[in-house]
Amino acid sequence: MTVAVYPGTFDPITNGHLDIVQRAAKLFDRVIIGVYKQSNKHLVFTTEERVALVRQAVGNLANVEVKPFSGLTVDFARKEKAQVLIRGLRMNADFEKEFEMALMNRKLAPDLDLLCLMASQEYQFLSSSLLKEVARLKGNISSLVPKHVAEALKKKVIRVSEEI
Ligand code: ADP
Repeated sequence: MTVAVYPGTFDPITNGHLDIVQRAAKLFDRVIIGVYKQSNKHLVFTTEERVALVRQAVGNLANVEVKPFSGLTVDFARKEKAQVLIRGLRMNADFEKEFEMALMNRKLAPDLDLLCLMASQEYQFLSSSLLKEVARLKGNISSLVPKHVAEALKKKVIRVSEEI
């Protein structure tokens, strides 16, 4: 049984992430999406909200599960008995960071390998942070995220701008 963990912040999940999950689900028996509980990024959604948004987005994929985690990604992967970590690679944004992280992870867990799937052309320039910026400025995000995510983001952005 081949098990892969796809870790990330998913604040929130985008169609770019979903594209990676759908492709990974065809390659592995089980794919576990690991949602980081802590992140050094400025987060808009709580862990529970991020997990719920991801769960709803992948509800149609029978071999995909979603779990929050904290601590080292390699420890989470070990606990889940995964052989592979999945990451998505966009053309300019990700390579150096992923390479550095992969080498560190290899030191920590030599048995765990990394599979990077190239982002599809239409999502090369899509990131959660850019998406949040566009939502804040009331731009149209409907082609970039599932409908329930667009709705959650709109509500969140309205709430945040009321607090300011
Ligand atoms: P992290 O904080 O670990 O980078 P993200 O939620 O930003 O978490 O991303 C999770 C993974 O998905 C990373 O491997 C990232 O490179 C990848 N990813 C992000 N956006 C896209 C996209 N538009 N297309 C493909 N992969 C993506």
